[in-house]
Amino acid sequence: MESDKKKLITILVPAYNEHESIPILYDRLVSLMSSQPKYDFEVLFVNDGSKDDTLDLIKFLRNKDKRINYVNLSRNYGKEIAMSAGFDYVNGDALVIIDADLQDPPELIPEMIKYWEEGYDDVYAKRKSRKGESFLKKFTSWGFYRILQSMTKIEIQKDTGDFRLLDRRCVEAIKQLRESQRYTKGLYSWIGYNKKEILYDRDPRVAGKTKWNYMKLINLSIDGITSFTTSPLRWAAIIGILVSFVGFIYMLVIIMKTLIYGVDVSGYASMMVVILFLGGIQLIFLGLIGEYLGRAFYEVKGRPLYFIDSYNEHKETNMKG
Ligand code: UDP
Ligand code: MG
Repeated sequence: MESDKKKLITILVPAYNEHESIPILYDRLVSLMSSQPKYDFEVLFVNDGSKDDTLDLIKFLRNKDKRINYVNLSRNYGKEIAMSAGFDYVNGDALVIIDADLQDPPELIPEMIKYWEEGYDDVYAKRKSRKGESFLKKFTSWGFYRILQSMTKIEIQKDTGDFRLLDRRCVEAIKQLRESQRYTKGLYSWIGYNKKEILYDRDPRVAGKTKWNYMKLINLSIDGITSFTTSPLRWAAIIGILVSFVGFIYMLVIIMKTLIYGVDVSGYASMMVVILFLGGIQLIFLGLIGEYLGRAFYEVKGRPLYFIDSYNEHKETNMKG
């Protein structure tokens, strides 16, 4: 390797309706980049089908600053897919993923770079606190991580987001995981490599509104679990075996009672309880199987993850996705 060639660091920013945040983000990134003269930087925006003038703003910034590149997706695909589109266009030796709303302070990036230079491949920021987020959001995300961890042997990083620095080889690894129902946080854990945790205080958004709502969060949690592990299916089978064992014992009891005491027509209440209970369990587990079947349905179609409208000034007819 040439020693005088600077390493290139890509900063990936997925952006959906972020025209209020981007100018502030850009200023913070510029001061960060000038504080790190030992590296070259590329800022890679992924415009995820924004409906405001986010794209115009990015184009405007690119006109005056050629360190900025952008991928314009053909519509809104959601943050997970937007990030994977970004991964496909990374030029850097390392990649930092950061939210457009400055909830992830760019000032942490030099520390990430330091650990990267020490040989870590995945330097992720762990939230110490989450200002400006409701108790319910904190509680649900706390609960979700614990549930997910209890179901898998792979270590899940708690209270982390996508804010992290990845070495080129992690980027290449993640690029090979083309599943369409993506739970990227699980993928970082799955690929392994040397991980390093750093702590930070998560700030409230600088401007604009969060694109999250509880329905999205519930969906992401279910995606997270079902994309990561089939252990709920195993649980279902175990519970099924237990319940049918109890049912079998109960059957023997009823047969014996009938043989000894004769036919007994009372027992409406106990019958209803058993029918409702078993019916409920069956429906829940059918839904569970359906969840996995649905995932298989999407993966089996093998569609590209996304379509690109343009990369910088070039219109794309095809995509890397
Ligand atoms: N985002 C995106 N596509 C979407 C929704 C969000 O690219 O469909 C981006 C958004 O612009 C931001 C990041 O993902 O840069 C995180 O979004 P947000 O702040 O709304 O989520 P939160 O921080 O509340 O989890
Ligand atoms: Mg945010």
